[in-house]
Amino acid sequence: MSEAIDSKTAKFQALRLQRFYLAQVNYLITYLVISVAWAVGHYQGSAWLMLSHILLGVGTQLVFLLLIRSNWNLRLKDPSMTNAQIVVAMLLITYLLAFAGPLRGTLIMIYANILVFGIFQLSRRAFHIHSGLALVLFGLLITLEHYLKPGARSFTLSLVEWFVLACFLFCLSLTGSYIRELRERLQQRHNTLQAHQETLRGMMGQLQNLATTDALTGLANRRHFLNEAQRRMTLMRPSQQLGIALIDLDHFKRINDLYGHAAGDEVLQGFANLARNSLRDGDLVARFGGEEFVILLGNSNPEALFNCIERLRIAFAALDFDSLPEGVHCTLSAGLASICPEDDLEVCLNDADQALYQAKDAGRNRCELHQPSYV
Ligand code: GH3
Ligand code: MG
Ligand code: MG
Repeated sequence: MSEAIDSKTAKFQALRLQRFYLAQVNYLITYLVISVAWAVGHYQGSAWLMLSHILLGVGTQLVFLLLIRSNWNLRLKDPSMTNAQIVVAMLLITYLLAFAGPLRGTLIMIYANILVFGIFQLSRRAFHIHSGLALVLFGLLITLEHYLKPGARSFTLSLVEWFVLACFLFCLSLTGSYIRELRERLQQRHNTLQAHQETLRGMMGQLQNLATTDALTGLANRRHFLNEAQRRMTLMRPSQQLGIALIDLDHFKRINDLYGHAAGDEVLQGFANLARNSLRDGDLVARFGGEEFVILLGNSNPEALFNCIERLRIAFAALDFDSLPEGVHCTLSAGLASICPEDDLEVCLNDADQALYQAKDAGRNRCELHQPSYV
């Protein structure tokens, strides 16, 4: 049964499987070569020996396939099983070479072919160990052959073959080192690039924040409000109504003049916090400029709009500020207007502005709802 794995592990498993299949192509070609040599009488050994080669090859590879497909390999320190696959392949090829006769000199290159698979996966040390193993296995083969079947083959020729193998494995090791160095450099460059990308993404986020947020209050700024209100208006359902409220703090200049600019800033921040906390998630509050704020209420009829801003007005009038003397409060005036789906945002803002003027004219610290002229 295969174990449940996350998508990242699944991606690596797919890569391992891909590499495994690539190795199978190499096995297939090797067995094809041997079969052709055997068919034309240049590979020593009976049909049973040939069958044993193929069965051993297929059997060992099936085990590896099963380990990967069942995800059992994930329990191993090296789930790619590169070391094990290389050792098995080298044992198989040594067994194959034992009966290769005059063809052996040509076929020793298969050792190098096997080691190519390790270039990307193995450390330099592991690569050298595997090269050493290939030389030991082939060395054992020629020594055993020399003692068990003396005179069957020129020992000098066998030693030359061993020497040729050693030279080619050395070349391969040099190429491997070069490729590994290139990969490390590429990886380093990739890491640096990724770090730059992260920084850039962070900076973009900060820029985006700066472009849409008011620095003093942390509320949305005028530009962001206008864009967002426009967007929400295009999404309105036919029967839906939005509410807009333009809010201006009363006699705010006096606060600045009497208690200082920092006190004025604290009042602005106090209003921002109050508004943020009293509105619902879908509502939008922004600093429209100076001591003016704007609120967009989602899904609200004129009555609900009035009640909501009235609550905010009363709460603000009761707010205490550290920078203001005890008993000194600040008030606000608000002009309210409703938005229907076919309305123009600029016109609605204008309506709310007119209502705000009325509120100021009527003595401040109050909310006024814009009355459409046809009513
Ligand atoms: P009204 O009731 O008619 O609205 O009177 P007002 O004094 O509130 O209106 P006015 O437009 O005369 O003054 C607004 C003041 O708001 C003037 C300006 O210095 C102050 N202001 C604007 N932005 C800031 C700010 O960021 N911080 C502080 N502390 N004051 C600000
Ligand atoms: Mg003003
Ligand atoms: Mg004002």
